Amino acid sequence: MAGKQETHQFKTEIQQILNLIINSLYSNRDIFLRELISNSSDAIDRLRFKAQTDADILGNDTEFFIRITPHKEKKTLEVMDNGVGMTYEEVMENIGTIAKSGTSAFLEALENSKKADALAPDLIGKFGVGFYSAFIVADKVTLTTKAAGSDTAVRWISKGDGSYTIEEVEKEGRGTTILLELKDPEEKDDGNYTDEWVIRQTVKKHSDFVRYPILMEVDKTEDIPEAEQVKDKDGKAVATTRAVRGDETLNSMKAIWTRSKSEIKEEEYNEFYKHISHDWNDPLSHIHVKLEGVVEYTMLLFVPEKAPFDFFNVERKHGIRLFSRRVFIMDNCKDLIPDYLRFIKGVVDAMDLNLNVSREILQQDKMVRNIRKNIIKNVLNHLADMDKEKYEKFFDAFGMVIKEGIHSDFENKDKIADLARYKTTQSDGKYVSLKDYVIRMKPDQKEIYYITGENMATLINSPHLEKLKDKDYEVLLMSDPIDEWVVQALTEYEKKSLVSAEKGDLKIDDEKEKKETKDLGSLFEFIKTELTDKIKEVRPSTHLKDSVACLSSDEGEMSAYMEKIMKATGQDAPDTKRVLELNADHPAVLKMKELFEKDRRDIRLKDYSQLLFDMAVIGEGGKIDNPSRFNKQVGELLTGAI
Ligand code: ADP
Repeated sequence: MAGKQETHQFKTEIQQILNLIINSLYSNRDIFLRELISNSSDAIDRLRFKAQTDADILGNDTEFFIRITPHKEKKTLEVMDNGVGMTYEEVMENIGTIAKSGTSAFLEALENSKKADALAPDLIGKFGVGFYSAFIVADKVTLTTKAAGSDTAVRWISKGDGSYTIEEVEKEGRGTTILLELKDPEEKDDGNYTDEWVIRQTVKKHSDFVRYPILMEVDKTEDIPEAEQVKDKDGKAVATTRAVRGDETLNSMKAIWTRSKSEIKEEEYNEFYKHISHDWNDPLSHIHVKLEGVVEYTMLLFVPEKAPFDFFNVERKHGIRLFSRRVFIMDNCKDLIPDYLRFIKGVVDAMDLNLNVSREILQQDKMVRNIRKNIIKNVLNHLADMDKEKYEKFFDAFGMVIKEGIHSDFENKDKIADLARYKTTQSDGKYVSLKDYVIRMKPDQKEIYYITGENMATLINSPHLEKLKDKDYEVLLMSDPIDEWVVQALTEYEKKSLVSAEKGDLKIDDEKEKKETKDLGSLFEFIKTELTDKIKEVRPSTHLKDSVACLSSDEGEMSAYMEKIMKATGQDAPDTKRVLELNADHPAVLKMKELFEKDRRDIRLKDYSQLLFDMAVIGEGGKIDNPSRFNKQVGELLTGAI
């Protein structure tokens, strides 16, 4: 027996998460078997993919299978496969840790929901459990695995109690065996996982369509061949059948997508989704389309209900699986789906695909391009046809992903823009589509107004919106970082321009309302000189009605929010100076003008210039550089006023 043995600790927070998940999944514990079987089936898929370019890798072991072996007396259950297996490093990487980047997000959410026991199933639902679900039913798990093409095997053992050991061992044949030492089964009338019928039922329910045989050795009766039959004195056989041990295949292996839609129950779709996605929630909806014609293919695609925790920060897994005439070609085929639809899971089975495609050739394959186009069309139509409630659920989960398409998929820009939803100054926290916005526009309103920023509450109260609100014009409130890119690509919708409420001249003042310049020019010059390192100009405001000051950008310039995003993500962003807009009707401005005309050297003018700037910064939810100076100034003014 070879080599090193090491003991490792799970991170404490991982242990906490595991315990939580395991406890809350107990009533749903059947899923552990589905998870292990799906992992085995993926491992065989991966091996077959490798074998396309390296035929020797299979050796003599070419019949793929998954085997389940219960042992009643020992109270164990074993799940074994002859898939790709894992090396020492891979076990450390995959089994020793858990959804690395998702963990911190999960803990943060936990922290926010404060009480762990109040943990919404919602939250847990976003966390893939995979292999760890074994601990729902087992006290101790022993995983033994040998990677295809490797000489040594690895054994990983854990009691799910905070640590695991890992060592090099010997093992015949490649693949992975997982031995579960089951928790004391509560003796219920429904049996336990060492009962053949429980296993049979669980596999049938959750894993029937797995494409490799799931075998279990059972007692069978078989016919005794004529020649072996023992005859009595009359020449009649004493017995014609006998009991033997033999394999039973537990699953039908039927590819669900090849069946006709009318025969497939919703439940079957859901189970299939869970198998391919490793999600344990039902999907939000599915698309099942057979295309016949020059190119023939079937697509069965699912829209998940929730984004998993690691959706935004790890290499995506389990996307679209590509088959050709039911033969598996590859997992997670990114060429079939654009990034902005990356939440879609499912399978595509094409009739005449070149079986020896490599990932590079695939991109250029005409048929693949054709399928991709159709997937996009089908998904976008499907989303457009969803009922309102369902769609908004979808949009909450994946809205910020699909909006990327407005920027990246020029061809479908309008369709994707139709799918965007925004909260507005008049929607009372509800979503509004651009279509609805246009229908609701006031008769004299020519443009679509929006404002971007980090936080809904600041946006809705932004001083930039005062005039627009006064005119009763609705404003789209955009608080996803991606919206900054969306509005760059979406300059108009239904021939109406999208106009930023915080940039440039809004041009909404009626002629008669237009103020004759109140000769504020020299005061503004003075303020500009005072604030020269902070602003580029002082102008009478076209935005403000009640507030005295705000900052705005010029048309075509980067918004303050965009600048902030770019800096936060480490990109080069110029420090753009903005325009200080002052409300020319505001008594404070007029009083300042009086003061200025009396004595331009009055020391207070300097202070007030600074104060106006700070007020503008605070008004848009920004941070001022010198809060204590601000406090002192306001304190003095307050004393004078009372
Ligand atoms: P997921 O399957 O969602 O990735 P798991 O925790 O179930 O998460 O598994 C983690 C990783 O461990 C898998 O992605 C795979 O690389 C590896 N793995 C798990 N089970 C097996 C197996 N039976 N054979 C080979 N690799 C496996």
